[in-house]
Amino acid sequence: MLRCPNCNSHDLGKVGTNQLYCWHCFIELTINHDHQITSIFQVEEDGSLSSLNDLFSDDSTASFQSKGGAS
Ligand SMILES: [Zn+2]
Repeated sequence: MLRCPNCNSHDLGKVGTNQLYCWHCFIELTINHDHQITSIFQVEEDGSLSSLNDLFSDDSTASFQSKGGAS
């Protein structure tokens, strides 16, 4: 089961064929056929999506919590 890369929660709901939503931190994840996370978006209050890919593509300065180690 996939975990949220932000909060490590398993509480992910499916919102589309390749899309998951984290009910803990309210981000949307796009996955591929191997269930690898390919994109991360934050859902704004108006329903628009902001890409968070930059925060997770570089492990040096991420402000989000991380257990370390590549997925
Ligand atoms: Zn989360």
